[in-house]
Amino acid sequence: MHLVIIGNGITGVTAAITARRLAPEARITLVAAESAHHYSRPALMYLYMGHLRYADMKPYEDWFWAENRLELVHAEATGVDTAARTVQLATGPALAYDRLLLATGSVVRTPDWPGQQLAGVQGFIGLPDVETMARDTRDITHAVVVGGGLIGVELAEMLHSRGIHVTWLVRESRYWQSVLPPEESAMLEAHFKKYHIDLQKNTELRELRGDAQGRVQSVVTTTGQALPAEWVGLATGVMPNLTLAQAAGLDTDRGILVNELLETSAPGVYAAGDCAQHRQPALGEVAVEQLWYTGRMQGETVAHTICGQPTPYQRGEWFNSAKFFNLEYQTYGRVPARPEAGIASFCWQHPNGQHLLRLNFREADQAVTGVNALGLRQRQDVWERWLREKTPIGSVLAQLAAANFDPEFARQHEAAIRREFGRQFPTIEVTRPRRKGLFGLVR
Ligand SMILES: Cc1cc2nc3c(=O)[nH]c(=O)nc-3n(C[C@H](O)[C@H](O)[C@H](O)COP(=O)(O)OP(=O)(O)OC[C@H]3O[C@@H](n4cnc5c(N)ncnc54)[C@H](O)[C@@H]3O)c2cc1C
Repeated sequence: MHLVIIGNGITGVTAAITARRLAPEARITLVAAESAHHYSRPALMYLYMGHLRYADMKPYEDWFWAENRLELVHAEATGVDTAARTVQLATGPALAYDRLLLATGSVVRTPDWPGQQLAGVQGFIGLPDVETMARDTRDITHAVVVGGGLIGVELAEMLHSRGIHVTWLVRESRYWQSVLPPEESAMLEAHFKKYHIDLQKNTELRELRGDAQGRVQSVVTTTGQALPAEWVGLATGVMPNLTLAQAAGLDTDRGILVNELLETSAPGVYAAGDCAQHRQPALGEVAVEQLWYTGRMQGETVAHTICGQPTPYQRGEWFNSAKFFNLEYQTYGRVPARPEAGIASFCWQHPNGQHLLRLNFREADQAVTGVNALGLRQRQDVWERWLREKTPIGSVLAQLAAANFDPEFARQHEAAIRREFGRQFPTIEVTRPRRKGLFGLVR
């Protein structure tokens, strides 16, 4: 079998490494346009900030690929003939495949603003963007970031690290309103203020204006302001990269449409990671998953199917993590931005504005349904178990230390969290689960 994989992001390389393990005799080729070797995309910001060198962002040594007989082709795939089962490349001969995996990732999504083509205006998604940004932000004093998601906050932090004043335009009335409950948004907004980030809410970009050399000079907002801007970062989202799939005539919608085995509409062709869209996502799950860890899971799953072990993709408990400047964020399970019928929400915040813990649970049986943690680090395995076992909230609170990575925090704040819970939910008892001890006696 010759497996050809387009894209050497986390999805493509996980699929390649898994397939090598499952099918030792298979020929496996990874085609990638952006970089010769796989690197960690979430680490891009640290390259700009000088915390990492490019070599540090590569999880595998360069010898790893040849050692594992994973052939690397550093070229753009320009077409796929699904009938002849060949991939055309921009440079070099076409590749014949038995199985093809499209792991082509995302591209930047930008509305068509006047002035968008000016020098100094860019998105941020890959290695060339770091180089362009480093060049164009040298010696500048004022920058504008547009869009309030996770890439927006990364850009703000990157610019701040070089002493550049940042104005950050966010369409919503509070930070990351579509994802976070109000308390989390408020805490983060206060946090950004400490770094002198000028967060302008309810404000959108209307137009970019340039100088005589075609370089951006200012932006005009929907609130009528003209803001100085020597550089503008567009962080208004990403969308699946469909170029190759559409050229090949595959079924696409927002992403490349796949079934639960991650099979596309063409025989022998699969899609996974950021570029894929599930035709029928499970209840409460999203159709397009654009996360590092879901890319890794999809890559591993699809490799099993490709290697003759058909395996439906099941994401399991929702998990995500990020960093807002130095404040860590983790979420497990379901924590919607707005209250949900039948779900109670307990929120504790430290008066210093550096720690927050939200626990959601069902009113009917008190089973825990989700957690948000800001400024403290939780253990994924413990939270997955509590969610899977529908652990009652009282028991979760009694055992909170088990989920904590930071014993210092546990010692300092757990009593306060339990006291606050007792104040907000006086009728719910905080007790450890009764366990069977010696001789089967319950203790
Ligand atoms: C700045 C940034 C920070 C992020 N931080 C986080 C984070 O903290 N946590 C998190 O969960 N997620 C994060 N993400 C999202 C995460 O990186 C992606 O979900 C993940 O990288 C998707 O992996 P992938 O392999 O599906 O696609 P990608 O990593 O996008 O890889 C796809 C590759 O395919 C290549 N390609 C596409 N078309 C072709 C073609 N025709 N020929 C050859 N090669 C092609 C592309 O050049 C690209 O290198 C971040 C994303 C960005 C941009």
